[in-house]
Parts: sequence; C-alpha cells; structure tokens
Amino acid sequence: MPGRLQHKSALITGAGSGIGLESSILFAQEGANVLLVDVNIANAEKAAALVQERFPNIKAIPYKADVSKEAEVEAAVATAVKEFGRLDVMFNNAGIMHPEDDNALNTEERIWDLTMNINLKGVWFGCKHAIKAMRENPTDAAKGLQTGGSIINTASFVAIMGAATPQLAYTASKGAVLAMTRELAMVHAREGIRLNSLCPGPLKTPLLMDFLNTDEKKQRRLVHLPMGRFGEAVELANAALFRKPATSITSTQLTSDKHHTVASSESSYITGTDFKVDGGLSSAY
Ligand code: NAD
Repeated sequence: MPGRLQHKSALITGAGSGIGLESSILFAQEGANVLLVDVNIANAEKAAALVQERFPNIKAIPYKADVSKEAEVEAAVATAVKEFGRLDVMFNNAGIMHPEDDNALNTEERIWDLTMNINLKGVWFGCKHAIKAMRENPTDAAKGLQTGGSIINTASFVAIMGAATPQLAYTASKGAVLAMTRELAMVHAREGIRLNSLCPGPLKTPLLMDFLNTDEKKQRRLVHLPMGRFGEAVELANAALFRKPATSITSTQLTSDKHHTVASSESSYITGTDFKVDGGLSSAY
C-alpha cells in the first residue's frame, strides 16, 4: 500500500529529539522525503542516519538552523525545495521550556524574550517561508500532487489551560501559537494551504523530564493525569500524521475511527483547528 505521504516532502523542526524525531521516522515511513532541522546538528544527523537506514528509498537530510533566526529558517525551507522539488508539510515543532521560566513576578525579561523568540517567532518564520514555498508547489496529477500544503504548529495543553506550576513565558508563547495558527488558516485557506495546531499533554521527552527534574515534581504532575502516565513522543507523531488514532488518545476530536491526517491530503477539510493529544488532561477536573 502506498504511504500517505508518497511523493511528498516535509520539513520538521526540532527533529533531533522527542516529537520531531518520532515524526521524522513516521513521515518517512509514509513515504515523505524529510528535512530534519534542529539547532543541535549532532542530534539531527543521528536522526537522519536512523531514518535513512530504515527507509533507504526516501531522502532524509539533516539541517542546522535556529528557528528564532529568520534567515536560517528561510534557508532551511529553500534547501527543502531545492532537494525535494517542493514542500508539502511544514511541522513547526521546535520549542523550549526554560528552567528559569516562572510566574509573573519572577520571570526575567531575557527568559521571556528567549522563549518568545523560539516558541512563537520561530513558528511565525516557519509559517511565513513555508507559505511562500507552498504557493509555488508544482502540480502533478499523476502523482496526486497539488499546489498548497499543510502546516502543523506545536502548541501545548497550557495554551488552553492554566498550569499551576508556573511557566509564564512558555504558556503565553503557546497560547499565541494557537491564535496565530487560526488567523493564518483563515487568510490562506483559499490558496490550499491548511494550518492546524497540536496541543500535546505532558510527555516523556527531554524537554519536560529536564524541567521536572526530581521524582517529587514528576509525581506532582502525574497526579493530574487521568491516565496516570506521561505521553510518548510517538503518540504525538501519530497525531501530526493523523493516522487512525491510537487507543491512548482520548481527545474527542480524535475519537473518530476514520483515518484523519493533518500532514496528508486525507485531512483536506481540516484547517484552523487545534488537536488536543493529552491523555484526557483537558477534560479532567
Ligand atoms: P525535545 O526537547 O525532546 O525536542 C525539542 C527539539 O527542539 C530539540 O531537539 C532541540 O534541540 C530543538 N530546538 C530547541 N530550540 C531550537 C531552536 N531555536 N531551533 C531549532 N531547534 C531547536 O522536546 P519535545 O517534547 O519533543 O518538544 C517538541 C515540542 O512539543 C515543543 O514545541 C514543546 O514545547 C512541545 N510540547 C512538549 C510537551 C512535553 O511535555 N514534552 C508538552 C506540550 C508541548
């Protein structure tokens, strides 16, 4: 059976770890050529080697870029177009959670700016340059390829819920990602460019495990998780691809037994929305 992303290409930021790494593997498995962007080039290279070894028929290219630098994002998009001939999927996923991010009184301006620059401005730059590229995508009816594309932005459950363990800059940056994604989706809908956000719950990835750096902090978070466990990065990759939901995903928006995919054309009528993949957290009291 041909993959859902056959003949397509994807650029994934934060591809060296966690959600980005698992998505790189899954998108490649579905047939996409992938540009694996990360500020940590050693991890991007490891990820690309792993993907290439498992899926020798696709191209997996590591690429060093800091998403908070517009010129670097623009060059990354240009590289994907040059290498693959087109850009169908842009996954703006890179993000940070700074250990000094705190409440309104304690968060320093430099932490606020750093967080906003990566988590919010980085997503804007990614959207901006992906939109330009997707408008130019060549059509090829025989291969089912069209102009336009799909942009997926990683937000967080804290974009829609207040976190009792404060991370003000992070929370504000993720809320803004949701708002920006909705507006861009409206503006570009008639160009065949769809934009959606993912709202992951707490995951067992370095980003959160480094932040919750003691057993006590982890336990405090686990108490609030209906499933009693942190999510796995691959459960978010499944949602980014949007193949048939895994049983562990309880968001009502994902309980349909149809195959929805945000990254592929199977989600052709889905834009301007956000998908909670949070183990039920946002429905908990
Ligand atoms: P991770 O730390 O495993 O991976 C993040 C990757 O982003 C790393 O490889 C890192 O090098 C890269 N990165 C960081 N800053 C960058 C920059 N300026 N430019 C390019 N790459 C950069 O984390 P993850 O859990 O996979 O997080 C991915 C996304 O999911 C982030 O946006 C994060 O905010 C979001 N998220 C995570 C959780 C969670 O619990 N882990 C929950 C909600 C949302």
